[in-house]
Amino acid sequence: MEPLHPCPCCGYFTFTAAPPYTLQFCEICFWEDGGEQSLSSLRYAQRNFLTLGACDPVFRHDVRLPDVSDRRVEQWQPLDTLKLPAQPLCNPLPQHLTALFEVVESHSTKQM
Ligand SMILES: [Zn+2]
Repeated sequence: MEPLHPCPCCGYFTFTAAPPYTLQFCEICFWEDGGEQSLSSLRYAQRNFLTLGACDPVFRHDVRLPDVSDRRVEQWQPLDTLKLPAQPLCNPLPQHLTALFEVVESHSTKQM
């Protein structure tokens, strides 16, 4: 089985290819790993995920709940908790965020 990669929105390992720009949908939060991502859209999506279980209210009925087999980034925190300064649209995601995912990836690869 291919190692999975964490979804930037919910932190669960749902992507079969490493974000960003894979155009995959997360089955847990319905985040689309699209080409036009920004911190503000990710922040909005995470707030929706935390309150509604989906990255956008229109996808509320398309998502599934995480179950015991779903792994999640251990130190996952929403952007709001990370207290990043407000930033204009930026693409790709800041280095320290992608670095976080790389660390997680190396851990998950070791487990395989
Ligand atoms: Zn997700």
